[in-house]
Amino acid sequence: MQLFPLFANVKDKAVLVVGGGDIAERKVRLVMAAGARVTVLAPHCVDTLHTLAQQGKIELVNDHYHARYINDKWLIIAATDKRPVNQVIATDALAQRILVNVVDDPELSSFQVPAIVDRSPLIIAISSSGAAPMIARRVREQLETLFDHSLGKLTQLAERYRQQIRTQQQNMGSRRRFYDWLVDGPVGQSLRQQHPAKAEELLLQALEQPSAPPPTGKVILVGAGPGDPGLLTLHALRALNRADVILYDRLVSQEILTLARRDAIQINVGKELGGPHHTTQQSIHELMVEHALAGKTVIRLKGGDGFIFGRGGEELQYLQRHGVDYEVVPGITAALACAAYSGIPLTHRDHAQSVQFVTAHRKEDSSISEWQALCEPSQTLVVYMGLKQLGSLCSQLQQYGRAVDTPCALIENGSRSTQRTLVARLNTIYEYGITHQFNAPSLLIIGPVAALARELHWYGEMIDHYNPSTIKNGCTETMQPLNAR
Ligand code: SAH
Repeated sequence: MQLFPLFANVKDKAVLVVGGGDIAERKVRLVMAAGARVTVLAPHCVDTLHTLAQQGKIELVNDHYHARYINDKWLIIAATDKRPVNQVIATDALAQRILVNVVDDPELSSFQVPAIVDRSPLIIAISSSGAAPMIARRVREQLETLFDHSLGKLTQLAERYRQQIRTQQQNMGSRRRFYDWLVDGPVGQSLRQQHPAKAEELLLQALEQPSAPPPTGKVILVGAGPGDPGLLTLHALRALNRADVILYDRLVSQEILTLARRDAIQINVGKELGGPHHTTQQSIHELMVEHALAGKTVIRLKGGDGFIFGRGGEELQYLQRHGVDYEVVPGITAALACAAYSGIPLTHRDHAQSVQFVTAHRKEDSSISEWQALCEPSQTLVVYMGLKQLGSLCSQLQQYGRAVDTPCALIENGSRSTQRTLVARLNTIYEYGITHQFNAPSLLIIGPVAALARELHWYGEMIDHYNPSTIKNGCTETMQPLNAR
């Protein structure tokens, strides 16, 4: 080990920061956060440091460095942009055995300031011993994604009840299990859900029971987004890291599954309708409950967002009826991802003031007014599911008054490496979709904004069949009926 890691208690201790620039200011804020009494020494400083001094939060000395300023200090940070000055500070500090850090200069420093992940009172510090601070920073970024901010509150709670936990769980093994339960069980969950009083009550209940609390399972309904793993949320990633069992849908990409905890059981519950391994909604419900009641953390992983054409609501209702705890992590739904990745703003001040998400699986008995509601000319319509149904949907829309030349974009495999975008008119999009062999999953965006893909698209392949020059006024062109594939 090149450096000995330590966490210093600088509360109410005198700390000197030499330098008055932005870097000095950042260091000042850091030591202030740890409760130090900070003096800033610099002939000139940035306004923010002046403000801190006016607020009485720091002492500001407008002078050049002199050895007399370090006499009564515990710790010094040299953040001047003059190496000779930094060098003198370092030498003086060393002579007086005061710890000194010279920013970005490990040679002159007797201590380094690590990169930190702050979940106070829990702090993770990372150091490359000055070898490559950029790598330490990368590691920090990765750790940031792993730990939820509620971990700080959980640590505070554990601190408050530390003695009682120690008294109740005298044996090391059972104490460790208790802390596992605290983090993974209902106490941690309540804090994540912003119910601190409930968390404390659950902890107190557990402390009153003589035996260790039983493992508690739960289901986390997680939206996995449209495919690009970069579109997962941090919460989704954390959930995948906590999973014991993952029940995933057909639309969840393999790249996302590889991010899950290695020893999690992964079960494909994708509904290949009519396929030999057809999993019914009922059996998904039963699987969730069975694993959760066995104490497991079950991740119900769905493409896009679980609440947009995802049956997430039904699944939660079932869980609630069976007394199973749950959490929900939203995902980026296909409409948002396909729009973003094909350069189609779903609303635009000049073209569309509203947007509707609908499914192509329309009920046979949809009323005229329901159809008319979809035909408002400037409204953007996003159609999920059913390439087969698109033909009849497009002709119905024309029948109920949507213009034949309304721009449409069909996006296949949105956000994935295989994304294709096809732009055409309402009366030709289905035909061209077949010509170019578009397959599921594909999403259709209808409305004036769809034409913007022609200029704004930036991702994947673009096929442009939108031809405004062929539009005749008052044209009554309709689509040729085509056999569904
Ligand atoms: N819950 C999902 C939607 C499930 S319905 C969500 O929020 O995105 C399935 C339909 O979503 C597909 O038939 C297709 O129309 C659309 N879809 C899902 N992922 C897609 C993707 N990556 N590209 C294009 N369409 C997608």
